[in-house]
Amino acid sequence: VISLLNSYAGLAAAATGFAIGNNVLIIAGALEGAGGFILSIIMSKAMNRSFANVIFGAFGAAPSSKPGAKGDVKEPKSITPEDAATQLAYAGSVVIIPGYGMAVAQAQHTCRELDELISKKGGEVKYAIHPVAGRMPGHLNVILSEAGIDYGALLTDVDDANRVLATADVAIVIGANDIVNPDAEDDKSSPLYGMPIFRPWTARTVFVIKRGKGTGFSGVENPLFTRDNTLMLYGDAKGVLGSLIKEIKALDEGH
Ligand code: NDP
Repeated sequence: VISLLNSYAGLAAAATGFAIGNNVLIIAGALEGAGGFILSIIMSKAMNRSFANVIFGAFGAAPSSKPGAKGDVKEPKSITPEDAATQLAYAGSVVIIPGYGMAVAQAQHTCRELDELISKKGGEVKYAIHPVAGRMPGHLNVILSEAGIDYGALLTDVDDANRVLATADVAIVIGANDIVNPDAEDDKSSPLYGMPIFRPWTARTVFVIKRGKGTGFSGVENPLFTRDNTLMLYGDAKGVLGSLIKEIKALDEGH
């Protein structure tokens, strides 16, 4: 919706250009109008939602539960920052998947510090950036760049990121939810069904950093959190990342 309004602003500027006979305004307005429109189409595709649905609707009503669908209700397993730090310190490849929660927590700078620590210990860190992560087009690209994270470390194509995830030692999901919901591929009744998503569960271990059992923007439950190789690190993203840094440094001092 924001990028579409942006596009309209461009068209209005172009129209003003015609009215007052200003060529610069016509050209700049036309470029902004076209750019905003193209971005709106890209964002809608990335959410697998029609234009009309984005403008006039919300996500479909989330099914509150799926009675008897997948057997017993599983509870997510959690891990302490101390144990998670040990795995991170010896990981050869780590993929970080940031979402809206990272932006809310303003955890990007702490994330960069963790990235530097892992890299110093020989691990390779990449970032999987989903086109609709956060709440604005390019939201996560902007905050990661603000924290000084190298653009070359960003995987912005969903398929490329999934290929890297499949061989990663650890995937760290930081305040993301809908963009890593396996129901988008597995459950035809899910409002997210058809949306391209990251597959962190194909990595050897998945750490999920979030505060509790809150759902994402779509309001639907996420079965990723109860997968066998998923371990939850509960807490505010900035605080948990800070604890991981502290524990990795403590490991270094202990040896
Ligand atoms: P989501 O909204 O799906 O999930 C965010 C998660 O962050 C929540 O589950 C929440 O869980 C957690 N969280 C919130 N605050 C914190 C915090 N301080 N520390 C740690 N975790 C936190 O985010 P995604 O980025 O995965 O997905 C974006 C969604 O927004 C998509 O559905 C997309 O379609 C939609 N959208 C995107 C727009 C865009 O332009 N990018 C525009 C409009 C909508 P908990 O409460 O348990 O902490």
